Amino acid sequence: MKIICVGRNYADHAKELSNDVPKEPVLFMKPKSAMLLPHKPLYYPEFTDDLHYECELVVRICKNGKFIQQKFAHKYYDAITLGIDFTARDIQRKQQQKGLPWEIAKAFDGSAAVGDFRMVDEQTDLRHLQFQLHKNGETVQNGNTADMIFSVPQIIEYASNFFTLNIGDLLFTGTPAGVGPVTVHDQLEGYLMGEKVLNVDIR
Ligand code: MG
Repeated sequence: MKIICVGRNYADHAKELSNDVPKEPVLFMKPKSAMLLPHKPLYYPEFTDDLHYECELVVRICKNGKFIQQKFAHKYYDAITLGIDFTARDIQRKQQQKGLPWEIAKAFDGSAAVGDFRMVDEQTDLRHLQFQLHKNGETVQNGNTADMIFSVPQIIEYASNFFTLNIGDLLFTGTPAGVGPVTVHDQLEGYLMGEKVLNVDIR
């Protein structure tokens, strides 16, 4: 199982990190060991002083495939939830400045938190999903998948040119604006269409 993530998929978030809006999806991966199961706490890693949350729509792959065309993409996922793409922002900046890979900033243990999955079908419109992240009860991110630069079918088509998608793989589809730091004792909660599907305590 692997986790394929999209960076800079919301223009307002690309802007807040002073990045250009990409012309093709920016992909990176997290290994299985990065996954933080629903309702598990994240222990603040000792290698960073600037751990950030990025709340994202997560799509679960239900069918193996390669070279998947956009028009067939809906056959390849069966469930969605919210996740947190935890990022050691200090390390990411250092790596970016040197032109080095991001894995130590983004693919460490527990960096891919997921919530409880909700089943979807062909009728489900992934293009207009409202989602929010609350930190200690306050709304810190408020997104809508309508603002994605690359839609889920576009991401599936693009990613599957490079990587065979396998049953159980997860797609993290990018974060809207409002990313920020967490500290020990923070409580994160994610709401998808008003329903709480995710919670992560930082310990
Ligand atoms: Mg992200």
